[in-house]
Amino acid sequence: MLREHVEIFLSPDKGRGLRCKKNGPPIKAGTLIIEEDSYCFTLLEGQEEKRCHYCLEEQSPKLLLTCPKCLTAKYCDEDCQKAAHKEHLSECDGYRRLMKLPFHLRLLGRILYRQSTRKYEQGALGPLSDLCSHIEELKDSTELKTQLQKLSRNVNEDILPDRDQLEILYGKTTCNCFSIHNLDLGEIGIGMYPQAAMMNHSCKSNCVVTYRGPRLQIRALVDIQPGEEVYHSYAEKGHNTRERRDELSKYFFECQCSHCLDTDRDGTMMSVKCPSCRAQVKSNSNERYEKCSSCGYTDFSTEFYEDVEVYIQYADDVIHKPRVWATDILYTNTAKVRIQEAYIL
Ligand SMILES: [Zn+2]
Ligand SMILES: [Zn+2]
Ligand SMILES: [Zn+2]
Ligand SMILES: [Zn+2]
Repeated sequence: MLREHVEIFLSPDKGRGLRCKKNGPPIKAGTLIIEEDSYCFTLLEGQEEKRCHYCLEEQSPKLLLTCPKCLTAKYCDEDCQKAAHKEHLSECDGYRRLMKLPFHLRLLGRILYRQSTRKYEQGALGPLSDLCSHIEELKDSTELKTQLQKLSRNVNEDILPDRDQLEILYGKTTCNCFSIHNLDLGEIGIGMYPQAAMMNHSCKSNCVVTYRGPRLQIRALVDIQPGEEVYHSYAEKGHNTRERRDELSKYFFECQCSHCLDTDRDGTMMSVKCPSCRAQVKSNSNERYEKCSSCGYTDFSTEFYEDVEVYIQYADDVIHKPRVWATDILYTNTAKVRIQEAYIL
């Protein structure tokens, strides 16, 4: 792992975090600050037929090599198969059943298979030891019971640790896993990155996480000063405060970043140009437009709201579907023309 720019520190209210080295130089925008191989990862449902289970590269399903024993693990070629061999050996026997589970249980199952042959990776000194599990909050939930039952029925019995340990590991994987994206920002898998997981959340993050296959890379989005904390956003940055709060509830904290505390921000994000005088009109808390404070315009019609929806969808596509944006010419052109005519800021 590359970590010459940052250090772990203890923050009084957020526990452990990562910051730009106090006695080092500032981190320039664009700098690669962390590079980490996954401790363990898995593909999302629907991806396992078309991607290499080792390097995550997409392939025509016909060209992928299938493991002759489990008939489930698939690889680009013999090189990937060889590279995956050591890891796959412990799970091959149960891999078919494992891959029928939802992705977050696949991940937990893979970790258990791995730890079953490497006992030193369990417990207080293992690579996952420093991660929080939030098990106190999760402990009595029916969700936890159902999920662990499902997992226990679908993995080899001899890999299951005792109940307490299993619950803690479940909490750790749920609260600390990263979504793995391809270069088009499509979600293809999830993985555990114990070092990167030290980073705290802020909706106003100063770095961005990208992937090369399952390898994670974190780059600075802006200049970060010595001693300044490095944050990434666990929530969708384009969402409003309520939506982000919903997304963050599974991590058991309420974000207090400047974006979340700024009561005006959601209105500004949703503000439009007045169709009459082109001044800025902010939305109310129900995302409706009442009156232009500059010229008094109030006639925000159904068509106006429909247009706003189109622009929001367009912005969403630009952020999330660069490939669709580049290839779907008809849609792109329509949206482009409309955005040029837009009232939206
Ligand atoms: Zn491969
Ligand atoms: Zn196999
Ligand atoms: Zn926030
Ligand atoms: Zn106006």
